Amino acid sequence: MVGAPAVYDTKMRLRTSEKQLKNYINGNFYQPISGNYLPNYNPATGEVYSYLPDSGEEEVNQAVKAGQMAFPSWSRMDTEKRFRILLRIADLIEQHMEQFAQAESMDSGKPLSLAASIDIPRAAQNFRFFATASLHFASQAHPMPDGSINYTLRDPIGVVGCISPWNLPLYLFTWKIAPALATGNCVIGKPSELTPQTAFLLSQICDESGLPNGVLNIIHGLGSKVGRSIVAHPEIKAISFTGGTSTGREIASIAAPMFKKLSLELGGKNPVIIFEDCDFGEMIKTTLHSSFRNQGQICLCGSRIFIEKSIYGRFKSAFIGEVSKIKLGDPVLLETEMGAVVSESHLHKILSYIALAKEEGGHILCGGTQENMGGRCVNGWFVSPTVIENLSYNCRTNQEEIFGPVVTLIPFESEEEVLQMANSTGYGLAAVVWTQHLQKAHRMAARLQSGIVWLNCWMKRDLRTPFGGVKNSGVGREGGWEAMQFFTEAKNVCLKI
Ligand code: NDP
Repeated sequence: MVGAPAVYDTKMRLRTSEKQLKNYINGNFYQPISGNYLPNYNPATGEVYSYLPDSGEEEVNQAVKAGQMAFPSWSRMDTEKRFRILLRIADLIEQHMEQFAQAESMDSGKPLSLAASIDIPRAAQNFRFFATASLHFASQAHPMPDGSINYTLRDPIGVVGCISPWNLPLYLFTWKIAPALATGNCVIGKPSELTPQTAFLLSQICDESGLPNGVLNIIHGLGSKVGRSIVAHPEIKAISFTGGTSTGREIASIAAPMFKKLSLELGGKNPVIIFEDCDFGEMIKTTLHSSFRNQGQICLCGSRIFIEKSIYGRFKSAFIGEVSKIKLGDPVLLETEMGAVVSESHLHKILSYIALAKEEGGHILCGGTQENMGGRCVNGWFVSPTVIENLSYNCRTNQEEIFGPVVTLIPFESEEEVLQMANSTGYGLAAVVWTQHLQKAHRMAARLQSGIVWLNCWMKRDLRTPFGGVKNSGVGREGGWEAMQFFTEAKNVCLKI
């Protein structure tokens, strides 16, 4: 490749012990052009355990050139052949499940058991799902009364950018990359600087899978450098981004005037609404997960729990009883249910919101502190699961995204009242309603300002369904045909007969 930096190693073996991660451009592994690396921390120990390239615009330019070179043959490749390559990637992820899960847990602080049971299997599933989708993807025809016919062609866009966050690193990275590749695009991917390890392993897998050079390029580094260069690059025609709302706003301000296609999956402040007629046992069990899974760092976690007044006391004591049993600890231990939060700065953000909640008059019912787990985790970033009550629905704690293991309890008396409170934030990503009253459940679902509503469940995902938020939670939808359509351009052809 013209102007490329020195090749590090063209055929790297999969090694989680790799200390210096490399960029993956045009099928080769490269050191950063700047020669600079950024430290990568293990949140459970607070120690640096690897380094990632501090890349910039130059690497993005090279990756785009590689993508452009690869695009003609990849986009025209026989669908069956492309499908087989993507399936092979899914198989290889599964074959290396243990290494991937260990890397994900070490990078993010999440329990190893969670990475092994949710994150990594879902990453493989993403590739398999969109590989098969490519075999079934079809376009429409619109016949006219005079016999003329319109048919729609759906062409891949070209080189596209996929930027993902740290909370579900490989799960969300592949959720974007897989449909982009399945529809024949070439991809410039940027994982979060905080969790680069599994994206690096993915680049090694791709190398082994027979994916042609330049089809997928993975550039590591800072959002303010690599991310911004991807967004601003004139030859990258579509951006699929998942992350915070303020970053999404900044991306839109650059990409929209360039008329790029944009899919923005942003923050949330999700309500969980509990009526007295719910299945109480099932609700308590699931609400524990919807509050604290992945340390509350899932965009779909419910952080505001609204409870019908008649069962408020019963809910409070049952919930606190269960929360106090959650095993916080070293992510590698099998019994650990909650691990570390992702970074020191995120720890301080969460603690500052707990302090704000106290200032706003909140009563901490349990948790509310940083925890020292001792042993190898003595310097890790742990926060105990925190439950707060006595806050008004419209205070800052109940309006702003905390994205940690912190939930608030708010009583309500009527459907009207809870709908007004639930819809009062700037966000609209997900909502959960607990009731056995069928009509009430549907009434609530229809009136909640939310891209996703779960009735009597949480995180039940069918990959064919539209996924995304309203209001400040995003623009566009991912999942199923929505993603396949996002990564293709529709062209109508009208033939007069
Ligand atoms: P950020 O917005 O900080 O970062 C997301 C990604 O964007 C990272 O790769 C980041 O790189 C990169 N980035 C940062 N600045 C820029 C920029 N100016 N231009 C381009 N890219 C940039 O989010 P977090 O990683 O902190 O993730 C947490 C947020 O993600 C929460 O708000 C959460 O709600 C949201 N989220 C939404 C989901 C959804 O489906 N709606 C799902 C999961 C999370 P770097 O890491 O180097 O800064």
